[in-house]
Amino acid sequence: MHDVGMTQGFRIVENARLDARNTFGVAARAPMLVEVADASALPELFGYGMLRDGPVLVLGGGSNVLFAGDPSGVVLALGAQSIAIVEDDGEGAVIRADAGVEWHAFVLWTLGHGFAGLENLSLIPGTVGAAPIQNIGAYGVEVRESIHAVHAFDRTTRAMTTLAPPACAFAYRDSVFKHAPDRYVVTAVDFRLSRTPHLRLDYAGVGDELAAMGVDAPRPSHVAEAVCRIRRRKLPDPAVIGNAGSFFKNPIVPVDVAERLHAAHPTLPMFRSGNDATRKLSAAWFIDQCGWKGHRDGDAGVAPSHALVLVNHGKATGAELLALARRIADSVDERFGVAIEPEPRIVGARW
Ligand SMILES: Cc1cc2nc3c(=O)[nH]c(=O)nc-3n(C[C@H](O)[C@H](O)[C@H](O)COP(=O)(O)OP(=O)(O)OC[C@H]3O[C@@H](n4cnc5c(N)ncnc54)[C@H](O)[C@@H]3O)c2cc1C
Repeated sequence: MHDVGMTQGFRIVENARLDARNTFGVAARAPMLVEVADASALPELFGYGMLRDGPVLVLGGGSNVLFAGDPSGVVLALGAQSIAIVEDDGEGAVIRADAGVEWHAFVLWTLGHGFAGLENLSLIPGTVGAAPIQNIGAYGVEVRESIHAVHAFDRTTRAMTTLAPPACAFAYRDSVFKHAPDRYVVTAVDFRLSRTPHLRLDYAGVGDELAAMGVDAPRPSHVAEAVCRIRRRKLPDPAVIGNAGSFFKNPIVPVDVAERLHAAHPTLPMFRSGNDATRKLSAAWFIDQCGWKGHRDGDAGVAPSHALVLVNHGKATGAELLALARRIADSVDERFGVAIEPEPRIVGARW
């Protein structure tokens, strides 16, 4: 590794190892890693060589990427860490967080300052800058419900821009940023949060967990604690075993297809999709039915406790994890005629 050194607001590392920068813990190298401390350096930086002309992968905590090969161009990491209240009308506020802020630390900051809205999204790994990319969601809440604006550097216009929510085209684990992965570098996100909680307790055991905690008049901080307790119990910790959380998105299919499948398989979980013409089905159920839970191909495996989570038992390569993921998806398609798609960004190979 050759460290080219710190210039104004950024640092360049050539031939940089990315093993510790992805939660699968797979080996990968970037021809050039640019660590940007101050996002105001971006317009100037993107005027030069590889950054101007080549592919650029923006990397946050690496908790939603699979390096099936090395990235072919520059990897950019944003380090800015500030959080500030930019508007406050007493009832609520607009809070701006830089892309480099750790997501869970931000959730705790909002709760500590008396703001509600992000408590169900506690303990999701990664950074604030990545939260809008797949519109992170958990326990019945999606981050789009709280996003007021996304600040980004637009590589097409080579200028800083601000996107209001409609321009972000948020959908289930989806946004405009996912469809134009080379276009925007998210530099900060504005969240509109209220001081009056509207708690969402009806999803996946949150109410039961609060009851088990002995809490009968929950505040947002209790909900955050309940979500953390459930997540610690259910999800493998990337610090212990490499993974990227759920590897597959729940498939969204036309209502008639969902109803036919549900009639043939009454235990298949079916959810509303936010659209009357379609339903969301459980990818975990399909994968479990195909017998993959706990399966292992060398060091690439499926978590024994969670059919959606692919794990690296030690020295799996990204290509091996991708090969396993493809076999899983093919088996679900063959048996049920349903295509399931990966949630993480796959780098260095095509799905
Ligand atoms: C144990 C575990 C549990 C998880 N649980 C959930 C969950 O409940 N819900 C959920 O939605 N996700 C979950 N995830 C996935 C992941 O945590 C989120 O997608 C998170 O937002 C990724 O953040 P990151 O900083 O690690 O992004 P990265 O993995 O570094 O990047 C992910 C994508 O975002 C892009 N990106 C990152 N930062 C920027 C930026 N500043 N500008 C432009 N593009 C950017 C990258 O290029 C890439 O395409 C989980 C992951 C793990 C490991």
